[in-house]
Amino acid sequence: MTAPERLVAQLEAAGEVRRAEPMSRHTTFGIGGPADIFVTVRSAAALARAATAAREAGAEIFVLGSGSNILVSDAGIRGVVLDNRSMAERDQGGARYLVESGVSFAAFARRMCRLGLDGLAWAAGIPGTLGGAVVYNAGAYGGCLADVLSRARILHRDGSDRWVDASELGLVYRGSALTRERFPGQAVLECELSLTPGDAAAITARVAEFDRRRLAAQPRGRNAGSMFKNPPESPAWKLIEAVGLRGARRGDAAISEKHCNFFTNEGAARAADVAALVGEAERRVRESFGVTLEREVAFVGAW
Ligand SMILES: Cc1cc2nc3c(=O)[nH]c(=O)nc-3n(C[C@H](O)[C@H](O)[C@H](O)COP(=O)(O)OP(=O)(O)OC[C@H]3O[C@@H](n4cnc5c(N)ncnc54)[C@H](O)[C@@H]3O)c2cc1C
Repeated sequence: MTAPERLVAQLEAAGEVRRAEPMSRHTTFGIGGPADIFVTVRSAAALARAATAAREAGAEIFVLGSGSNILVSDAGIRGVVLDNRSMAERDQGGARYLVESGVSFAAFARRMCRLGLDGLAWAAGIPGTLGGAVVYNAGAYGGCLADVLSRARILHRDGSDRWVDASELGLVYRGSALTRERFPGQAVLECELSLTPGDAAAITARVAEFDRRRLAAQPRGRNAGSMFKNPPESPAWKLIEAVGLRGARRGDAAISEKHCNFFTNEGAARAADVAALVGEAERRVRESFGVTLEREVAFVGAW
């Protein structure tokens, strides 16, 4: 057996393996070339096993949540993509939950709200997994994950894992120790969330209000949410509008007419088209206002 065959055999023990899997099937943008090896894992233990096997074989790994905050290059991803569908959760009592990182964050948030557990009404419209929410400290309408996250179980490069207190995760506006490479190449396996008992009717009314605001402000269709973080000077969308890029197009990629910080795939956009528009927005905003826009969406793969 060759080394790559040995790796595939080990990965098959952890999940379903596909080769040359188009990443366009796994991103909300609907964009992205092939991943060399794509493994779907259905538990935190399988995620850890697959990540460790890949690392021991010297392969690069990329942990995929729902693909709602990434732009994957047209050339795709070399190495192993770990498609995280770990979804177990445990009620610890006292409004505390242990949740595996592949759980849909919005679905979990909505369920908690309906149960009358407060703390996640703001999250009910955010696509993605809980793991992705930890990485970016997902947030909206004045709330963010840091408000309810007690601790997370992190898989280290040597294959060991450890519970890390939320205070050690460096959670900031759309970032964490994981985005700042303090935990490079590591994976979030599981989280503990602490909620607060409240009134279900009042909480679900807040969810409905946030849904209404989101629907009114954001475009539908294929996108990855806000492309840039809001700089201190001004919301990113205002800067992009001010440099004349509302509705701009490159191939099938567009800057949304409805919300200039949303870049959309209007059909068969290539990653290169989106990247060209992103570069154009960055250049014009820098030249006009001296502001450097910082990307919120991660550019992934071989560029
Ligand atoms: C329409 C729309 C609206 C959005 N609105 C918001 C909003 O209001 N607020 C907000 O904060 N975000 C928003 N987003 C962005 C996105 O939903 C969040 O950033 C989300 O948390 C990303 O989760 P994901 O599972 O899709 O991550 P992915 O896009 O799959 O991955 C993003 C990054 O996180 C890493 N990652 C994912 N899971 C793990 C893990 N278990 N361990 C280690 N690394 C991991 C990946 O390797 C990658 O680098 C929006 C996106 C869309 C499409």
